[in-house]
Amino acid sequence: MADYQFDTPKVIKEAKKYNPKIIGLQFPDGLKIHAIKLARKLEKETGATILISADPCYGACDLADTKLEGIVDLLIHYGHTPLPIDYSIPVIFIEAYAKIDIIPALRSSLKLLSGYEKIGVATITQHLHLLDEATKFLEEHGKRVLSGKGAGTRRGQILGCNFSSVKKLDVDAYLFIGSGDFHPLGIRLSTGKPVIAADPYTGQVKNIEDFADRILRIRFAAITRAREAKKWGVIMSSKKGQRRLSLALRLKQALEESDKEAFIIILDDISPGLLAPFRELDAFVVSACPRMPIDDYQLYDRPILTPIELEIVLDKRKWEDYTLDEILF
Ligand code: SF4
Repeated sequence: MADYQFDTPKVIKEAKKYNPKIIGLQFPDGLKIHAIKLARKLEKETGATILISADPCYGACDLADTKLEGIVDLLIHYGHTPLPIDYSIPVIFIEAYAKIDIIPALRSSLKLLSGYEKIGVATITQHLHLLDEATKFLEEHGKRVLSGKGAGTRRGQILGCNFSSVKKLDVDAYLFIGSGDFHPLGIRLSTGKPVIAADPYTGQVKNIEDFADRILRIRFAAITRAREAKKWGVIMSSKKGQRRLSLALRLKQALEESDKEAFIIILDDISPGLLAPFRELDAFVVSACPRMPIDDYQLYDRPILTPIELEIVLDKRKWEDYTLDEILF
Protein backbone atom coordinates (compact mmCIF):
# COMPACT_ATOMS: atom_id res chain seq x y z
CA MET A 1 0.00 0.00 0.00
CA ALA A 2 1.37 3.40 -0.99
CA ASP A 3 2.10 5.94 1.71
CA TYR A 4 1.01 9.56 1.32
CA GLN A 5 2.23 12.97 2.44
CA PHE A 6 -0.57 14.25 4.65
CA ASP A 7 1.38 17.36 5.75
CA THR A 8 -0.02 17.05 9.27
CA PRO A 9 2.17 19.77 10.91
CA LYS A 10 1.00 22.22 8.20
CA VAL A 11 -2.64 21.14 8.64
CA ILE A 12 -2.46 21.67 12.41
CA LYS A 13 -0.91 25.13 11.99
CA GLU A 14 -3.47 26.18 9.38
CA ALA A 15 -6.42 24.69 11.27
CA LYS A 16 -5.55 26.54 14.48
CA LYS A 17 -5.93 29.87 12.64
CA TYR A 18 -9.69 29.18 12.45
CA ASN A 19 -9.92 28.35 16.16
CA PRO A 20 -12.37 25.54 15.29
CA LYS A 21 -14.44 23.61 17.82
CA ILE A 22 -15.48 20.99 15.28
CA ILE A 23 -13.49 20.00 12.19
CA GLY A 24 -14.78 17.84 9.33
CA LEU A 25 -12.41 15.51 7.49
CA GLN A 26 -13.17 14.33 3.97
CA PHE A 27 -11.25 11.83 1.85
CA PRO A 28 -11.68 10.06 -1.48
CA ASP A 29 -12.36 6.36 -0.91
CA GLY A 30 -8.73 5.31 -1.47
CA LEU A 31 -7.51 7.52 1.38
CA LYS A 32 -10.26 6.79 3.95
CA ILE A 33 -8.14 4.02 5.41
CA HIS A 34 -5.91 6.77 6.89
CA ALA A 35 -8.82 8.71 8.44
CA ILE A 36 -8.71 7.35 12.01
CA LYS A 37 -4.96 7.82 12.35
CA LEU A 38 -5.25 11.43 11.14
CA ALA A 39 -8.34 12.18 13.26
CA ARG A 40 -6.59 10.91 16.38
CA LYS A 41 -3.60 13.18 15.75
CA LEU A 42 -5.69 16.24 14.79
CA GLU A 43 -7.99 15.95 17.83
CA LYS A 44 -4.96 15.77 20.11
CA GLU A 45 -3.12 18.68 18.49
CA THR A 46 -5.95 21.12 17.74
CA GLY A 47 -8.29 20.37 20.68
CA ALA A 48 -11.20 20.31 18.22
CA THR A 49 -13.63 17.41 17.83
CA ILE A 50 -13.23 15.66 14.49
CA LEU A 51 -16.11 14.48 12.30
CA ILE A 52 -15.11 12.05 9.56
CA SER A 53 -17.26 12.09 6.43
CA ALA A 54 -17.86 8.51 5.25
CA ASP A 55 -19.91 9.44 2.17
CA PRO A 56 -18.31 8.64 -1.18
CA CYS A 57 -16.16 11.45 -2.55
CA TYR A 58 -14.96 11.55 -6.14
CA GLY A 59 -13.35 14.97 -6.52
CA ALA A 60 -13.27 18.60 -5.44
CA CYS A 61 -16.59 18.78 -7.31
CA ASP A 62 -18.01 16.73 -4.48
CA LEU A 63 -17.03 18.62 -1.33
CA ALA A 64 -18.84 18.01 1.95
CA ASP A 65 -19.07 21.76 2.59
CA THR A 66 -22.80 21.98 1.83
CA LYS A 67 -23.68 18.92 3.92
CA LEU A 68 -21.50 19.98 6.85
CA GLU A 69 -22.43 23.67 6.84
CA GLY A 70 -23.74 24.62 10.30
CA ILE A 71 -22.13 21.50 11.79
CA VAL A 72 -18.37 22.02 11.44
CA ASP A 73 -16.30 25.21 11.63
CA LEU A 74 -13.68 23.97 9.19
CA LEU A 75 -13.38 21.22 6.60
CA ILE A 76 -10.09 19.52 5.76
CA HIS A 77 -10.32 17.90 2.35
CA TYR A 78 -7.63 15.41 1.35
CA GLY A 79 -6.67 14.20 -2.10
CA HIS A 80 -7.86 16.96 -4.43
CA THR A 81 -6.98 20.52 -5.37
CA PRO A 82 -9.68 23.23 -5.13
CA LEU A 83 -11.92 24.07 -8.06
CA PRO A 84 -12.64 27.74 -8.79
CA ILE A 85 -16.04 27.58 -7.07
CA ASP A 86 -17.34 29.09 -3.83
CA TYR A 87 -17.25 26.70 -0.91
CA SER A 88 -19.71 27.52 1.83
CA ILE A 89 -17.39 26.94 4.83
CA PRO A 90 -13.62 27.36 5.27
CA VAL A 91 -11.77 24.47 3.60
CA ILE A 92 -8.13 23.42 3.79
CA PHE A 93 -7.10 21.31 0.78
CA ILE A 94 -4.28 18.81 1.22
CA GLU A 95 -3.13 17.11 -1.99
CA ALA A 96 -1.87 13.94 -0.24
CA TYR A 97 1.00 13.25 -2.62
CA ALA A 98 1.87 9.57 -2.97
CA LYS A 99 5.32 8.69 -1.66
CA ILE A 100 6.44 6.66 -4.61
CA ASP A 101 9.48 5.98 -6.78
CA ILE A 102 8.58 7.06 -10.30
CA ILE A 103 11.87 6.10 -11.95
CA PRO A 104 11.11 2.38 -12.67
CA ALA A 105 7.89 3.35 -14.51
CA LEU A 106 9.69 6.11 -16.41
CA ARG A 107 12.47 3.75 -17.39
CA SER A 108 9.91 1.28 -18.74
CA SER A 109 8.13 4.03 -20.67
CA LEU A 110 11.21 4.88 -22.76
CA LYS A 111 10.70 1.92 -25.10
CA LEU A 112 7.11 2.91 -25.92
CA LEU A 113 8.13 6.56 -26.29
CA SER A 114 10.95 5.79 -28.74
CA GLY A 115 10.20 7.42 -32.08
CA TYR A 116 8.62 10.44 -30.40
CA GLU A 117 10.76 13.47 -29.73
CA LYS A 118 8.43 16.01 -28.13
CA ILE A 119 6.55 14.57 -25.16
CA GLY A 120 3.70 16.19 -23.23
CA VAL A 121 3.58 15.06 -19.60
CA ALA A 122 0.39 14.99 -17.54
CA THR A 123 -0.71 13.53 -14.25
CA ILE A 124 -3.31 13.64 -11.49
CA THR A 125 -3.20 15.44 -8.12
CA GLN A 126 -1.48 12.61 -6.18
CA HIS A 127 1.58 12.71 -8.48
CA LEU A 128 1.93 16.41 -9.29
CA HIS A 129 5.09 16.56 -7.19
CA LEU A 130 6.69 14.00 -9.54
CA LEU A 131 6.33 16.19 -12.62
CA ASP A 132 9.74 17.87 -12.35
CA GLU A 133 11.50 14.57 -11.69
CA ALA A 134 9.75 12.99 -14.69
CA THR A 135 10.63 15.95 -16.92
CA LYS A 136 14.28 15.81 -15.88
CA PHE A 137 14.45 12.04 -16.45
CA LEU A 138 12.93 12.25 -19.93
CA GLU A 139 15.16 15.19 -20.90
CA GLU A 140 18.22 13.25 -19.77
CA HIS A 141 17.07 10.55 -22.18
CA GLY A 142 16.91 12.88 -25.16
CA LYS A 143 13.26 14.00 -25.10
CA ARG A 144 11.89 17.50 -25.30
CA VAL A 145 9.29 17.68 -22.56
CA LEU A 146 6.35 20.02 -22.26
CA SER A 147 3.58 20.46 -19.71
CA GLY A 148 0.93 23.14 -19.56
CA LYS A 149 -1.39 24.83 -17.11
CA GLY A 150 -5.09 24.32 -17.71
CA ALA A 151 -8.35 26.12 -16.96
CA GLY A 152 -8.61 25.72 -13.18
CA THR A 153 -5.84 23.11 -13.06
CA ARG A 154 -2.15 23.29 -12.20
CA ARG A 155 0.74 22.73 -14.55
CA GLY A 156 0.58 19.19 -15.88
CA GLN A 157 -2.61 18.39 -13.96
CA ILE A 158 -5.64 16.78 -15.56
CA LEU A 159 -8.98 15.82 -14.02
CA GLY A 160 -11.40 13.23 -15.36
CA CYS A 161 -13.46 16.17 -16.63
CA ASN A 162 -10.73 18.65 -17.54
CA PHE A 163 -8.03 18.00 -20.13
CA SER A 164 -7.35 21.67 -20.88
CA SER A 165 -3.72 21.49 -19.68
CA VAL A 166 -2.74 19.08 -22.47
CA LYS A 167 -4.83 20.23 -25.40
CA LYS A 168 -2.67 23.05 -26.68
CA LEU A 169 0.73 21.41 -26.31
CA ASP A 170 2.67 21.03 -29.53
CA VAL A 171 3.97 17.50 -28.94
CA ASP A 172 4.29 14.16 -30.76
CA ALA A 173 2.92 12.02 -27.92
CA TYR A 174 1.91 12.14 -24.27
CA LEU A 175 3.12 10.39 -21.17
CA PHE A 176 0.47 10.06 -18.47
CA ILE A 177 1.71 9.28 -14.95
CA GLY A 178 -0.93 7.53 -12.86
CA SER A 179 -3.05 4.42 -12.64
CA GLY A 180 -6.34 3.59 -14.34
CA ASP A 181 -7.35 3.98 -17.97
CA PHE A 182 -9.79 6.88 -17.90
CA HIS A 183 -7.35 9.80 -17.68
CA PRO A 184 -5.05 8.60 -20.48
CA LEU A 185 -8.17 7.84 -22.54
CA GLY A 186 -9.25 11.46 -22.03
CA ILE A 187 -5.87 12.74 -23.22
CA ARG A 188 -6.05 10.47 -26.27
CA LEU A 189 -9.58 11.56 -27.20
CA SER A 190 -9.03 15.27 -26.59
CA THR A 191 -5.71 15.50 -28.44
CA GLY A 192 -5.83 12.68 -31.02
CA LYS A 193 -2.17 11.93 -30.18
CA PRO A 194 -0.61 8.68 -28.93
CA VAL A 195 -0.69 8.31 -25.14
CA ILE A 196 1.60 6.10 -23.06
CA ALA A 197 0.37 5.48 -19.52
CA ALA A 198 2.95 4.79 -16.81
CA ASP A 199 1.60 3.43 -13.53
CA PRO A 200 3.95 4.50 -10.72
CA TYR A 201 2.41 1.99 -8.28
CA THR A 202 3.09 -1.10 -10.41
CA GLY A 203 5.83 0.21 -12.72
CA GLN A 204 3.77 -1.01 -15.70
CA VAL A 205 3.46 1.01 -18.89
CA LYS A 206 1.10 0.68 -21.84
CA ASN A 207 -0.08 2.39 -24.97
CA ILE A 208 -3.72 3.40 -24.40
CA GLU A 209 -4.66 2.92 -28.06
CA ASP A 210 -6.31 -0.52 -27.71
CA PHE A 211 -8.39 0.63 -24.75
CA ALA A 212 -9.44 3.80 -26.60
CA ASP A 213 -10.46 1.67 -29.56
CA ARG A 214 -12.61 -0.60 -27.37
CA ILE A 215 -14.30 2.35 -25.63
CA LEU A 216 -15.05 4.06 -28.94
CA ARG A 217 -16.74 0.87 -30.21
CA ILE A 218 -18.85 0.67 -27.04
CA ARG A 219 -19.82 4.34 -27.28
CA PHE A 220 -20.72 3.98 -30.95
CA ALA A 221 -23.01 1.06 -30.08
CA ALA A 222 -24.65 3.07 -27.25
CA ILE A 223 -25.24 6.03 -29.59
CA THR A 224 -26.76 3.74 -32.22
CA ARG A 225 -29.14 2.20 -29.63
CA ALA A 226 -30.07 5.64 -28.31
CA ARG A 227 -31.27 6.78 -31.74
CA GLU A 228 -34.41 4.69 -31.10
CA ALA A 229 -35.16 6.36 -27.76
CA LYS A 230 -38.25 8.57 -27.57
CA LYS A 231 -38.42 9.34 -23.83
CA TRP A 232 -35.26 10.67 -22.20
CA GLY A 233 -34.07 11.37 -18.68
CA VAL A 234 -31.63 14.29 -18.38
CA ILE A 235 -29.58 13.50 -15.30
CA MET A 236 -28.41 16.46 -13.26
CA SER A 237 -26.31 16.33 -10.10
CA SER A 238 -26.95 18.41 -7.00
CA LYS A 239 -23.20 18.33 -6.20
CA LYS A 240 -21.89 21.88 -6.40
CA GLY A 241 -19.00 21.16 -8.78
CA GLN A 242 -21.11 19.05 -11.16
CA ARG A 243 -24.34 21.04 -11.04
CA ARG A 244 -24.77 22.14 -14.65
CA LEU A 245 -28.34 23.39 -14.67
CA SER A 246 -27.99 25.46 -17.85
CA LEU A 247 -26.59 22.42 -19.67
CA ALA A 248 -29.44 20.24 -18.38
CA LEU A 249 -31.94 22.81 -19.63
CA ARG A 250 -30.22 22.98 -23.02
CA LEU A 251 -30.25 19.19 -23.33
CA LYS A 252 -33.96 19.04 -22.50
CA GLN A 253 -34.68 21.74 -25.05
CA ALA A 254 -32.58 20.04 -27.75
CA LEU A 255 -34.41 16.76 -27.17
CA GLU A 256 -37.82 18.42 -27.26
CA GLU A 257 -36.93 20.27 -30.47
CA SER A 258 -36.16 16.86 -31.96
CA ASP A 259 -39.64 15.59 -31.01
CA LYS A 260 -38.48 13.60 -27.98
CA GLU A 261 -39.90 13.77 -24.50
CA ALA A 262 -37.35 14.81 -21.85
CA PHE A 263 -37.46 15.03 -18.04
CA ILE A 264 -34.71 16.42 -15.82
CA ILE A 265 -33.91 14.14 -12.90
CA ILE A 266 -31.79 15.65 -10.12
CA LEU A 267 -29.92 13.56 -7.59
CA ASP A 268 -26.72 13.56 -5.56
CA ASP A 269 -25.02 10.21 -6.18
CA ILE A 270 -26.15 8.76 -9.49
CA SER A 271 -26.84 5.04 -9.39
CA PRO A 272 -28.90 2.51 -11.36
CA GLY A 273 -31.00 1.78 -8.25
CA LEU A 274 -32.11 5.40 -7.89
CA LEU A 275 -32.97 5.63 -11.59
CA ALA A 276 -34.76 2.25 -11.67
CA PRO A 277 -38.25 3.66 -10.87
CA PHE A 278 -38.22 5.70 -14.08
CA ARG A 279 -39.03 2.64 -16.18
CA GLU A 280 -40.84 4.63 -18.81
CA LEU A 281 -37.65 6.33 -19.98
CA ASP A 282 -35.75 4.79 -22.89
CA ALA A 283 -32.37 6.49 -22.40
CA PHE A 284 -30.43 8.93 -20.23
CA VAL A 285 -28.08 11.80 -20.93
CA VAL A 286 -25.82 12.99 -18.11
CA SER A 287 -25.10 16.65 -17.37
CA ALA A 288 -23.30 15.65 -14.15
CA CYS A 289 -19.87 13.99 -13.93
CA PRO A 290 -18.60 13.36 -17.48
CA ARG A 291 -16.91 10.11 -16.43
CA MET A 292 -20.11 8.46 -15.35
CA PRO A 293 -21.57 7.30 -18.68
CA ILE A 294 -18.17 5.94 -19.79
CA ASP A 295 -17.20 4.26 -16.50
CA ASP A 296 -20.59 2.93 -15.40
CA TYR A 297 -22.48 2.13 -18.63
CA GLN A 298 -22.44 -1.61 -17.85
CA LEU A 299 -24.58 -1.01 -14.76
CA TYR A 300 -27.49 0.34 -16.81
CA ASP A 301 -30.03 -1.53 -18.91
CA ARG A 302 -30.61 1.52 -21.11
CA PRO A 303 -28.22 3.75 -23.07
CA ILE A 304 -26.63 6.40 -20.86
CA LEU A 305 -24.84 9.09 -22.87
CA THR A 306 -22.71 12.18 -22.47
CA PRO A 307 -24.03 15.53 -23.84
CA ILE A 308 -21.55 15.24 -26.74
CA GLU A 309 -22.92 11.81 -27.60
CA LEU A 310 -26.44 13.20 -27.55
CA GLU A 311 -25.35 15.78 -30.14
CA ILE A 312 -24.36 12.85 -32.38
CA VAL A 313 -27.73 11.13 -31.78
CA LEU A 314 -29.51 14.36 -32.75
CA ASP A 315 -27.29 14.79 -35.86
CA LYS A 316 -25.76 18.02 -34.52
CA ARG A 317 -22.25 16.57 -34.46
CA LYS A 318 -20.42 14.00 -36.57
CA TRP A 319 -19.08 10.81 -35.07
CA GLU A 320 -15.64 11.81 -36.43
CA ASP A 321 -15.71 14.77 -34.01
CA TYR A 322 -16.32 12.56 -30.97
CA THR A 323 -14.60 13.70 -27.79
CA LEU A 324 -15.16 13.50 -24.04
CA ASP A 325 -17.45 15.87 -22.17
CA GLU A 326 -15.64 18.32 -19.86
CA ILE A 327 -16.52 20.68 -17.04
CA LEU A 328 -14.41 23.79 -17.57
CA PHE A 329 -14.76 26.67 -15.14
S1 SF4 B 1 -14.36 13.81 -13.34
FE1 SF4 B 1 -16.29 13.77 -12.22
S2 SF4 B 1 -15.68 13.25 -10.12
FE2 SF4 B 1 -13.81 13.95 -11.18
S3 SF4 B 1 -13.70 16.14 -10.72
FE3 SF4 B 1 -14.80 15.92 -12.67
S4 SF4 B 1 -16.96 15.90 -12.13
FE4 SF4 B 1 -15.79 15.49 -10.26
